[in-house]
Amino acid sequence: MTSSSTPTVLVTGGTGYLATRLLADLLASGAAVRTTVRSLDREEEVRAAVRRAGADDGALSFVAASLTDDEGWEAALAGIEEVHHTASPMIQTAVPDEVVIPARDGALRVLRAASHAGVRRVVLTSSFAAVGYSPKPVRDYDESDWTDPETPGLPAYPLSKAVAERAAWDFVEREGAGLELVALNPTWIAGPTLTASARSSLAVFTGMLDGTMTATPRQRFGMADVRDVSAAHLAAMSTPEAAGKRYLILADGPTMTFLDVADVLRRELGPLAERVPTVEASGDEPAPLTIHNERAKRELGLRPRPAVATIVETAESLRDLGLLAVRA
Ligand code: NAP
Repeated sequence: MTSSSTPTVLVTGGTGYLATRLLADLLASGAAVRTTVRSLDREEEVRAAVRRAGADDGALSFVAASLTDDEGWEAALAGIEEVHHTASPMIQTAVPDEVVIPARDGALRVLRAASHAGVRRVVLTSSFAAVGYSPKPVRDYDESDWTDPETPGLPAYPLSKAVAERAAWDFVEREGAGLELVALNPTWIAGPTLTASARSSLAVFTGMLDGTMTATPRQRFGMADVRDVSAAHLAAMSTPEAAGKRYLILADGPTMTFLDVADVLRRELGPLAERVPTVEASGDEPAPLTIHNERAKRELGLRPRPAVATIVETAESLRDLGLLAVRA
């Protein structure tokens, strides 16, 4: 521990794209924060990331813990009152257990340790993947919708998020002993990164800007700014009536396709975007998609950034961090 103040806030998965932003925001708010990492070798990398946002990392401390192992969680939760559980595997795999087991069992490890430690509230980063990946006649989704794990052909990642969030609510209902849970369900996250590599959802941007993606996938989605998701974590922790609820987090306006993202990059960024694809991969036109963010705006006070600003600032941050092959 490097701080004289004892942390009462825990963020799991401190190395992550979202978590580094959330750590920086919590530190900037004056909180003393502990974070978990799989290996303490990553400590300096996380400190550098939060400093990139202008935060002072003096009140940040680290504990090693893995979602697939009991070791470390009791120490991670000691003295903690508030938990932001962001850690979950963000990998593409054809083997569902590779993501379902760490996501579900990890969430349960965190909740069990939180309950033992007398934590007040856990804010869980779930996903739109736990809400809107089962077909509906009209693709119009709000927080009452759930992805059905039995959906034929459901890929491993949305399955992991649906199973983990369901397990979290079941745990709190049966064994939570007063522990409050809030689930945040962001759509696809973009926005400036603080990490030293293009992690997670940012690989799509590097593929477009470096020209390795020659045609955009035919998919329609909502976009959430990483800074807004972090702000939603803070509001979900401090808003009394958020307890027991889920919140979809995304920008206002119509949902987008990857070709829409490519068009914004080309229009706004000139030479930096000269390799961005101009065509979509073959396939059917994705069905219209509506995702509601009214609850987060009304109850959490979320004022989401416009998606165009998010797209432009993502590309600029990747350029500024030297994470693109194109240097314009
Ligand atoms: P990320 O950068 O890949 O962060 C994931 C974090 O989880 C990393 O800290 C990673 O640690 C950790 N993790 C993965 N497997 C682990 C394990 N077995 N034990 C311990 N830690 C493990 O992705 P992100 O975009 O920040 O995602 C953060 C959260 O947001 C996740 O819950 C994700 O499902 C959710 N989410 C993301 C998006 C999106 O578009 N990015 C959208 C909706 C929801 P390592 O660095 O050691 O791998």
